[in-house]
Amino acid sequence: MKEDVKLLIEELMGTCESLDVASAAVGVVLMDLTMDDWADFDGEIFNCESCGWWFESHENNEGLCQGCYEDELEEELEDSYDKEIDKMESNLKKEPDFTNHRSESEWN
Ligand SMILES: [Zn+2]
Repeated sequence: MKEDVKLLIEELMGTCESLDVASAAVGVVLMDLTMDDWADFDGEIFNCESCGWWFESHENNEGLCQGCYEDELEEELEDSYDKEIDKMESNLKKEPDFTNHRSESEWN
């Protein structure tokens, strides 16, 4: 792997720096990097689409870091849960409501 690529990865890893800022910081000219260099780069590090932080490539879950991926899953679960609740509530509203219509005194 080219030294420039290593420098860039070291600079970015665990940060939310932009490529431009990081490359300027370590004195790497992005235009000088080849397709192979970028392949090496992508093999080591990726930028989470959600939080914008850089993580090791093996932590990449469909473009998201582990944390964001889990958040996403949880949100999906919550969404479907909310929809279930809504469905149940609207079903309940359709049912005639036999409770709470009569006050205690009416029964006496
Ligand atoms: Zn993330």
